[in-house]
Amino acid sequence: MSGFIGLKPAEEIWWYMNKINIFTALMASSGVMAYLFGRVNRILGIIIGGFIFIVSSVVLIQSQADIWPYILLAAWSIIAISHSFYISRFDVSVSVSKQINDTKVHNENLNHKLERNKEQFTALVKNEKESLLMYSAIKLLSEAVNIENVKKYFAKVLKDYFQTDSFAFYVKDFNGGENMDVFAFGPKKFEFGAWAKVLALSKSCDKDFSSPFVHEGGKKVFFVPVKYGDEICGLFAAEFSSVGESDSAVLDKMSGFCRQIAFAIRRIQLFTQVDCLSRIDGLTGVYRRNVLDEKIEDEIRRSNSFKTTFGFMIADIDYFKNLNDKYGHQFGDFVLKRIGDILKSSVYETDFIGRYGGEEFGIVLPRADFEGVLRKAESIRAAIEKEVFQQGLESVRITVSIGIAHFPRDGFSSKDVIRKADKALYSAKDSGRNTVVDAASI
Ligand code: GH3
Ligand code: MG
Ligand code: MG
Repeated sequence: MSGFIGLKPAEEIWWYMNKINIFTALMASSGVMAYLFGRVNRILGIIIGGFIFIVSSVVLIQSQADIWPYILLAAWSIIAISHSFYISRFDVSVSVSKQINDTKVHNENLNHKLERNKEQFTALVKNEKESLLMYSAIKLLSEAVNIENVKKYFAKVLKDYFQTDSFAFYVKDFNGGENMDVFAFGPKKFEFGAWAKVLALSKSCDKDFSSPFVHEGGKKVFFVPVKYGDEICGLFAAEFSSVGESDSAVLDKMSGFCRQIAFAIRRIQLFTQVDCLSRIDGLTGVYRRNVLDEKIEDEIRRSNSFKTTFGFMIADIDYFKNLNDKYGHQFGDFVLKRIGDILKSSVYETDFIGRYGGEEFGIVLPRADFEGVLRKAESIRAAIEKEVFQQGLESVRITVSIGIAHFPRDGFSSKDVIRKADKALYSAKDSGRNTVVDAASI
């Protein structure tokens, strides 16, 4: 069997192979090899590509082939090997890990951004909540009519706004002194819950509360004045279980709050002042008669509901007209004022004293027994008898007569109880004055 050119098939293949020249193909592949191996390792690529090129060059140069095709092929191969060496510079693993790294950095940046956004969002939500709380506090304080209800809600606002349970908010009483009343307080026990303690601290560390300060006792307590113009109208004292912020940041926050609500607190002060003036007798500092009448009605309702009793006494100054005539009305006023003070300091805080007439005082003593009221009346009588009122060089002494009645023992209405107390008072006057008479004894 013979092939296309009349040789045996094997000889014919060899003939073709010689024609194609395997080393020409090998040289042509050197660039491809350099590239393929170069993907694994750049140096390995150039060594293998270079080796194939040199071996095939040596063979081709020694062959009888034309030189020009060889030169062209060699040039192409050199360019291909060089190019593969150049592009293998971009190592696959390096570029992949670089990409991974870049992605990581990108992700981290995104995470940071997300965190920042989250923080900003939380801060915005907190600010919005605080603004709403502040707004509701101002609205409440500015519109309130019932101050007692306001106190409770204001305490809740302070608790939520400052995230603390231990605090006290004081408002200056209108009498012009240094004293303040606790206006609102937190649910947890607070070291400076009573104004007397704040006052003691102010004396011991020589602070007048005109500017914010931090007291470092067992715990840190922050004090910030509430100022309306230059006038201090209140004080905010608070303790924080965990203070994340610096002391000055906490004081700034408290001061900002106090600045915002100062005018509303001032309004509360004026409101309380007007309310007090309408309820308190200006000369003696005890309730006016209409308020005492209300208190008696309240006590009757309470006594009926809880099946309790209360005592009522009327104290009338003896021969007060004579005193006025002898020493003048001004001195008479001074005596009345002093009697008011003596009465206030003689009874419990839960008792009520009112100016019943010119020189008459009524006192309501809730849940007091007969003996107790008699003893109390006797001690008041004795205290006034003992008191020396100074007028120029003279020492003036006065006495009082007291009549006592009880609810429901002496009547089921305020009218009846008052009438019985009055009757007892007249009996005391009749029996020589400077004495106490219980309605049950007449
Ligand atoms: P008695 O022992 O019977 O109670 O005699 P009295 O003089 O105290 O009683 P009377 O009711 O006759 O006089 C009360 C006096 O109290 C008359 C009035 O001048 C005086 N008075 C009433 N209100 C005031 C006041 O606000 N200031 C002064 N200084 N005197 C007053
Ligand atoms: Mg009288
Ligand atoms: Mg009198």
